[in-house]
Amino acid sequence: MIGLKLLLPLLFLWSPKEKSGFEEHPFFGYEDFAAGDSILYFEVEHYDLNLDIDIPAESISATATVALKMLASSDSIRLDFVGLEISDVKEGAVSRSYERHDSALVISLGSTVPAGTELALTISYHGKPTMATGGFGRGMYIDSSSSNSAVTYTCSAPWGAKYWFPCQDCPQDKATMEMFVTVPEGYEVISNGLLAYSSLAGADWSFHWVEAHPIATYLIAFAASRNYALTTDTVQVGSDKVPIHHWVLKADSAEVTPKLAVVSDIMEYFSELFYPYPFKDEKYAHVYAPVSGAMENQTCTHINTSIAWDWDAIVAHEFSHSWWGNSTTCRYLKHMWLNEGFATYCSALWIEHAEGPQAYQDYYEEQIASVYLQASSIHPYSIIDPPWPQIYSALTYEKPAAVLHMLRRIVGDEDFFRVLKTYGERFQDSTAASQDFESVVTEVTGKNYSWFFNEWLRAPGHPRYMTTWSSQPDADSFFVSIHLAQTQNWPADVGIFTMPVEFAVIRGNDTSYLSFVDSLKEQTFVFRTDAQPSSIVFDPRGNILKKTQAGIEDGSEPAEVYFDCSLISQGGLTYSTNLREPFDILLYDASGRKLLAKHLNESAGKIDLKDFPNGVYFVRFESESHSENLKTVLLSR
Ligand SMILES: [Zn+2]
Repeated sequence: MIGLKLLLPLLFLWSPKEKSGFEEHPFFGYEDFAAGDSILYFEVEHYDLNLDIDIPAESISATATVALKMLASSDSIRLDFVGLEISDVKEGAVSRSYERHDSALVISLGSTVPAGTELALTISYHGKPTMATGGFGRGMYIDSSSSNSAVTYTCSAPWGAKYWFPCQDCPQDKATMEMFVTVPEGYEVISNGLLAYSSLAGADWSFHWVEAHPIATYLIAFAASRNYALTTDTVQVGSDKVPIHHWVLKADSAEVTPKLAVVSDIMEYFSELFYPYPFKDEKYAHVYAPVSGAMENQTCTHINTSIAWDWDAIVAHEFSHSWWGNSTTCRYLKHMWLNEGFATYCSALWIEHAEGPQAYQDYYEEQIASVYLQASSIHPYSIIDPPWPQIYSALTYEKPAAVLHMLRRIVGDEDFFRVLKTYGERFQDSTAASQDFESVVTEVTGKNYSWFFNEWLRAPGHPRYMTTWSSQPDADSFFVSIHLAQTQNWPADVGIFTMPVEFAVIRGNDTSYLSFVDSLKEQTFVFRTDAQPSSIVFDPRGNILKKTQAGIEDGSEPAEVYFDCSLISQGGLTYSTNLREPFDILLYDASGRKLLAKHLNESAGKIDLKDFPNGVYFVRFESESHSENLKTVLLSR
């Protein structure tokens, strides 16, 4: 418990990963967010960045050559670029005039250029990079200190790239990229793709990195430091030996590198489960950077290793972005769930592989479903087209991860993993919209799941189920009646969900399962059985993202206070709450008999139930200010 107490403030300090608000962004409002999803009139084919970084002066001198192809005729090109002083703009050898408006750099082409024309614009610029005032990645961070943890790096998700190089800064325009970086003697530079050349002589060192796979601007990054220690590994993927690099602080390498090394096993597993690692002809690297979390820059994830991570989960999450986000990039920021929902779910997939199905279910309940259900402020919004400040929230991470969990339970493992493989391979080195994924589901399963995607991706909220049951003797058998109601009434526009539902009917040592599709506000299901059920459990395998009430209707909106406990436990009841006062946990058997009462102060913990027989229990939570009947707990070993 001491460990947990020490850990919780750290987790609170750094949580949530990859998330922050955008309300202070100087140039962008929601309209720009929408505009960023508009039709492009040119596409960039290649970025050639040449960055001379004067770290002591915290300034740069740079040229960026943007090779592009016109998709429609125009007499100008509008790039995104913020701050930094431009000294010259050329098309080939010809100087071009330009104007700057807020975040836009508008370059005149001299005359109207037809669609299909390919041209290259070279922008020379210099100065101290400015940084976005909001967002997860705010551009370039230069650390001129002599600290043994000093790192100069970039972090650009989702709109920080324009703060350090001119670009078309939206995820649907991916291009190949190369970066020639010059730094003072002693600094090592790590970037995307492969190192084509380096010069480690004299007062200036140079590194030439080439990313041959298309890359979205928010994934273009480098990190430079004098403090790195490198540990390497290789993983065999098909006929390729893929280099694995861990660039971490010298001072932390012995402690941190073993925790990152699990990525080698994850690469083998995900390559088998999805399709071979998309950048197997390049590398995968972990690079220490003091980001407020971790960032999946293509082939070189930046990770803050001073955070008390759940290491396997974070390594799996970031690495899985290689498939979901980096190779297949969400075409529109409004479809962020294709990146973050998938990566969040991939942590559960790795835990399932490493620790088994019960560990998967526990992780799903505690780290995915509960996180979403407790985030009541986002419940009024849909996963697709989230409000701008919620672009990195439980709406794009945990709720869509739960959608994938539910989809898997509905279509079955075989079809689910065929869907992932087909979708990934089809949109490899490209971009995808939500409809692309949904179409693959229809194609692979041969069934139309638009009802499922519409209620879970395009509508808010989740179901809240109330279940009651009774049985009556009838001659030598029993009539059993199960009443199921959907009682969700918040947010106001939450609908009635259509979902396959399941009940476990427990008769002594015998458990059987009843399944049907529920699409009604309430319905009663009656059946005959030869033995009286001792209990009936709704959704015993935790298939559905939901709240439940066992015969209790309180009709209230989600409470600010939350209390959560595991649904299915291995000999114990794991609980957590945000309540800051003493409370009692009461355990009842199916007949309503109180079996246990615990008076507690800790906000999280586990109650040992090893002396209790397998079966169904009800949990009640009580404190001076709050009381709640909770879901049933199925104890099984
Ligand atoms: Zn992520």
